[in-house]
Amino acid sequence: MSRLIPPPFNDAMVQAALAEWDWPAHYYEDRYYWSPEQTRRFQNARLLREVARASSIPFYRRLWERAGFDATRFRGIDDLYQLPLYTIEDIRESIAIAPPYGDYQGAYPSPTSTSLRMYFSGGTTGKPRPTVYTPWDRLVSSIISSRRRYREGARPGHVVLNAWAYSTHNGAWAIDESGWYFAGAVPITSSTGNMTSTAEQVRLAVEYQVVSISTTSDYLLHLRKVADELGYKRSDFNIQYLGAIGNRAAIEEAWGVRTSEAYAFHEVNSVAGECEFHNGMHVAEDAFILEIVDPDTGEPLPDGETGDIVVTCLYKTGSPQIRFNIKDLAAIVPGTCPCGSHTKRITSLKGRSDTMVKVRGINIWPEAIGAVMQDAVGHPVEYFCVAHMSRGQDDMSVVIETDAPGVGRRSDLTQRLENVIKDRLGLRLSVREAGPGELDSLTGKGEVAKLRRYKDERRQTVMSDATARLIGIPTQENA
Ligand SMILES: [Zn+2]
Repeated sequence: MSRLIPPPFNDAMVQAALAEWDWPAHYYEDRYYWSPEQTRRFQNARLLREVARASSIPFYRRLWERAGFDATRFRGIDDLYQLPLYTIEDIRESIAIAPPYGDYQGAYPSPTSTSLRMYFSGGTTGKPRPTVYTPWDRLVSSIISSRRRYREGARPGHVVLNAWAYSTHNGAWAIDESGWYFAGAVPITSSTGNMTSTAEQVRLAVEYQVVSISTTSDYLLHLRKVADELGYKRSDFNIQYLGAIGNRAAIEEAWGVRTSEAYAFHEVNSVAGECEFHNGMHVAEDAFILEIVDPDTGEPLPDGETGDIVVTCLYKTGSPQIRFNIKDLAAIVPGTCPCGSHTKRITSLKGRSDTMVKVRGINIWPEAIGAVMQDAVGHPVEYFCVAHMSRGQDDMSVVIETDAPGVGRRSDLTQRLENVIKDRLGLRLSVREAGPGELDSLTGKGEVAKLRRYKDERRQTVMSDATARLIGIPTQENA
């Protein structure tokens, strides 16, 4: 006899979620202005609940036992530092111990489980990692994400184009759900240019008077270019606001609208977003405890200093995240925002600490080099960095794409960039040029949302000829 399957959401659940996490518009009249003490009390109650829940999950039991942490003695937020940090490496180990789900999930598909969803991390750094979400987790993450959409300008009845890849990855779905459930938006599920041609996406945006397009910065610029080629004027569109992950000035110029920046990641969805003062991204502190720690020691850093983002998620009923070191680098913006909210704010991401290389005693990471070069030339640049050994020491070389064909070239430009990098980052690195499209296979341009900027060749005893040519090392020196 078959069991009756209840729908994933029912009215009682939706009402309970809104009672605990607030309506997105109302959030900005109340919770957004909570005092730090109010926020802390709210966080503390949920942190206690999450630690108790996680203590029955094998992954956390193992992690905490190794660190000598006794969950039964945990008293609250003041003890947070006692909990060990964990990283993607620990999740990989968990998957190896209990394939294919790992033992870090809080819910698993079974004949008696509630209706679950499963998405996979991007896989830019290794095998994709699954996260199992309960209906509650999807619902609440949508409430939290749609606060951000509301702040950006989303209102009921807005038709929006979602050109993120609807795939095994969570991103497009999270944007879809948060826009649809709680911001009242009507998403057109175009997905990427491979799924719906760029010309067709342009036509949809014009014909349905789309007010916003969610996608990568690269693709926003490409859409605008294709629209020009097809003879559409800016006034044919009704675009009112856009999100930007990098290339912000270029997007604002191309589309003639303001942009805002946000921070989200696979396991928890939206964490932080800008207000209209563009003065750092406000963390949704009712739902997350965010810390910035030293990438080497794991110790907390003072406001203004760049380190690893560590997130503790407070709203889940499925897979918990307690002191997850996501390895994205940012700093807390010191002081209070003119908007009046006391919530912590983080800077734009400055890179990833797992791509950080210590060269001649200085920590350096590819995205910082990219930002310095972009400032120097005054427009976005395509670049790629290679970490390699040089006379027995760690070193990094940089390649920048220009209009002239051929790889490994030196020029006035590379000379200038070497000097700028030396001035700004305190380190002389070799910069070479490559021709149009020469870096695409390395960066994944046209294929991946987050371009790869870095390759580590330090463990190669002999570098491949292609890489050696790219960074301008003669092949005989490389032997
Ligand atoms: Zn603000």
